Amino acid sequence: MKRLFALLLLLSLLCLAGCLESETPDETTIDTAATTAEPTSAPGHVHSFTQKVQSEQYLLRGATTCGSRPTYYFSCACGEKGDKTFKGDAVQHIYSVSVSDNGLIETAKCTREGCTHSETLNMMLPTAGTLKGAFSCSKSDYRNRDCAKILVYENCQRTDFDNYTRWFQQTAGCERKQAYQLGDNRYILYKNDKFTAYLSYLAGEGAVRVYIGRADDLIPSRLDPGAGQITPALWQINVDCKAAGYNGGMSYVLQLSDGKFIVVDGGYDTKEDAASIYKILTENKPANHEQPIIAGWFITHLHIDHIGALRNFTNRYKDKVKVEGFYYNFPYVTVGDIYPSNNGTWEDLMASWEGATLYRKLHSGMQFSFAGAKITVLCTFEDVYPLNFNSGNDTSTVFKIEIAGQKIVFLGDAEYGESDRMMYLPDDAVKADIMQYAHHGYDKQARSNLYQKIDPSVVLWPMPFVNWESDSHGEVFRPRYEGTITNRHKENEWIRNADSVKKIIVMAEGTTKLDLPYTPTGPRNADYEALYEEQKP
Ligand SMILES: [Zn+2]
Ligand SMILES: [Zn+2]
Ligand SMILES: [Zn+2]
Repeated sequence: MKRLFALLLLLSLLCLAGCLESETPDETTIDTAATTAEPTSAPGHVHSFTQKVQSEQYLLRGATTCGSRPTYYFSCACGEKGDKTFKGDAVQHIYSVSVSDNGLIETAKCTREGCTHSETLNMMLPTAGTLKGAFSCSKSDYRNRDCAKILVYENCQRTDFDNYTRWFQQTAGCERKQAYQLGDNRYILYKNDKFTAYLSYLAGEGAVRVYIGRADDLIPSRLDPGAGQITPALWQINVDCKAAGYNGGMSYVLQLSDGKFIVVDGGYDTKEDAASIYKILTENKPANHEQPIIAGWFITHLHIDHIGALRNFTNRYKDKVKVEGFYYNFPYVTVGDIYPSNNGTWEDLMASWEGATLYRKLHSGMQFSFAGAKITVLCTFEDVYPLNFNSGNDTSTVFKIEIAGQKIVFLGDAEYGESDRMMYLPDDAVKADIMQYAHHGYDKQARSNLYQKIDPSVVLWPMPFVNWESDSHGEVFRPRYEGTITNRHKENEWIRNADSVKKIIVMAEGTTKLDLPYTPTGPRNADYEALYEEQKP
């Protein structure tokens, strides 16, 4: 009996020693790899609550003011939470800087509520070429979620771009986070503790753009987790314009090879459009996914026929679906009929999805991956200035998805401003097999030279046949497609005549699934007149 007791004691001591050995030597290190698994302890294990793991699961009281320190419970190496507490690392400031229109980075201010900390920086950006002007992405209220500034320098050479890169690294003490290249165009993202900087050089335009934004801008990961077993597919959802009482609307769902989904926009704030997305997710989710997983929800711009469904979907399905990330870039100033006062509301809605990361600053040139799919951002509102914004549509985030050996371009509602800017991208960067036709094919949209550059064999056209905006319920699609409404439809004329376009799929034909890679078969066009006759009230 005595010997058994001694043996148990010895075992306990050995285990205790093991526990202590695995303790991190630097106690102040923030543990980023803290386990979220349920604590499991081997039989005979004796806890030793000596670990200072600063993660949510051990948090007693969160500190909300900068400089103050949250309180955590000590823990055992096995994961078990102890009774005693310790003070964690101080809450850091999250900075945003003010930048003058001539390129002086003036002051860094903390954006955390209740914190008034600020530091004078007075760092002058180098000059190159001609400073064409500055675009304020917000009304410079640093407490806003955004206070980014974009300076545009024209008549620049590649060496000017290189000068800026040196300045950010050597003078501003920035770390280079990502660098991208599209043909001769260059894009780099930098960070220091006060701001995030994005630098672009469009060779054909001879322009350098310098974006200075919040220090906590997130940069999407470039890691490709590798392709899975599922055949990727793309759905063009038939947005319910009748229920919304408007024309337009845009909603796409893409299934990745790992069974997760990408949603692009979503349509109107109606139960019909929310349900259309949910139906595709639930009918196609792999059996081993407890809930459908949206790996990325992309919002092209803030118009209600695009972002509206997010509200309805959030209200109805938040408990039934998981969203891992939202991807977008909204201006915080009024552009056409897009008002900054709305932005916060939409971002709050996104943030209400537990576990979702908000990638709120997509920049052109950015590349990142999902399972078997690579995203390239081709244009954002940041690229338009100093061109005119034709409307809020010219704030669309345009991007390309390469998946299953094919390329799909989503143009959102891009109009002339963005269209002209994308002409500075190399042909192979914009070339795609499948193209979402810009701005529903309405009067103002991308130009035909961009469509020729994209050179798609399949066109996805998000438009109804029937005019649901008026009581006349006349035809909307066919007269525009055939160019009989105004003489401004030269783009549509080009699409209609392009031999390289093998198939045009109009949204109102019904929700269409394209298995990827998709080979167009059958007639190029549906019988639009017959479909209109069928659908009109
Ligand atoms: Zn602060
Ligand atoms: Zn639209
Ligand atoms: Zn729009």
